[in-house]
Amino acid sequence: MILYQLQCDGGHAFEAWFRDSAAYDKQSDRGLLACPVCDSEKVSKALMAPRIGRSMGKRDEHPAPTRTDITDSQVMSGAVELRAQLADLRQKIERACDYVGPGFAEEARKIHYGETDPHGIYGETSQEEAKALKDEGIEFGAVPWLPKENA
Ligand SMILES: [Zn+2]
Repeated sequence: MILYQLQCDGGHAFEAWFRDSAAYDKQSDRGLLACPVCDSEKVSKALMAPRIGRSMGKRDEHPAPTRTDITDSQVMSGAVELRAQLADLRQKIERACDYVGPGFAEEARKIHYGETDPHGIYGETSQEEAKALKDEGIEFGAVPWLPKENA
């Protein structure tokens, strides 16, 4: 691993680790190097920075900033996808079912025991009520419900 002191055309200096000098050349040629301050891709090598008193093993604890960025964005896109799926599910339920609010358990029982015409419902219920419904053999599903502003 080689630590290079780099500099952009805007005069910002920063450091980056490379496997070897060829790795630097490759990334530089492909325009993969960018200034962390101004995003300029016109990056050139400044003087190599001497690192005195730093052992080889310690370097691995500080991965290159680009690797961390990639991991973060992958986690983000996964959450966005899940969010879209849940929002989609919510829309389907809202279209197909009647909202009964906190009276979900009561309404579910009415439907189950034939006191009212069968229809799809959704609403809120407590954990105790949900357990009681299950004990009575009433089928229902629980879905993560995102607040609308996030949907
Ligand atoms: Zn810059």
